[in-house]
Amino acid sequence: MIIAIDGPSGAGKSTLGKMLAKELNLLYLDTGAMYRGVGLAVLDANVSFEDKARVAEIAENSDIKLIGEPENLQVFLDGKDVSARIRTNEVGQAASIVSAISEVRKILVEHQRNLGKNSPNGAVLDGRDIGSVVFPNADIKFFLTAKPEARARRRYEEDLEKQRATSYEQTFAEIKERDERDVSREDSPLMIAEDAVVIDTSELDLSEVFAQMMQVIQENSAKATSNLT
Ligand code: C5P
Repeated sequence: MIIAIDGPSGAGKSTLGKMLAKELNLLYLDTGAMYRGVGLAVLDANVSFEDKARVAEIAENSDIKLIGEPENLQVFLDGKDVSARIRTNEVGQAASIVSAISEVRKILVEHQRNLGKNSPNGAVLDGRDIGSVVFPNADIKFFLTAKPEARARRRYEEDLEKQRATSYEQTFAEIKERDERDVSREDSPLMIAEDAVVIDTSELDLSEVFAQMMQVIQENSAKATSNLT
């Protein structure tokens, strides 16, 4: 089973993706962490984002691994644990810049497809282009969204909790900038796949969104079973 979760940043994709993966015993793939890994590698190498060929080369040669159970997933870049470093706003912006480069997307999409296909029970993938590009035939597609203010508030509270220095205003501005770039890029822009179930999480708490998603999954499985008989 492949479950796609797309949507803008701060809509709850990764928290809910992890919860679903745990509940259904599926692999959880945080595809944004991969773009963040490439963004960090480019920053570390002091390479200009304008130099697309060099950035693509870095994407090709970087060894990015997601290791561990969904609830404590660790991200490794070339053997080093970068789980905390990739979560800064600077790396978020870097990820959104490198993710607009087609060559970078090609490399990461192929990697994501292989990981998803080779997972014995299937996978939950969260990102921007999962239902539209990575797995257009995913069994279930969700598009999670929320008002920009709600998304910025959540990100800001998360940053405070993790003691990452920032302000609400800065987080709001950065989320807006990233959204605009993700929606307007030419290759695989953030969009709602035709057959996606859209959930606005602005006014819902996690358990309510989780219950809605589980209901969609159960209805879908029941339909699939009745089609077989
Ligand atoms: O999901 P997260 O906020 O960690 O993603 C960081 C950035 O990576 C996004 O702003 C987006 O530009 C990019 N991304 C993407 N396609 C994906 C996942 C993330 O372009 N499938």
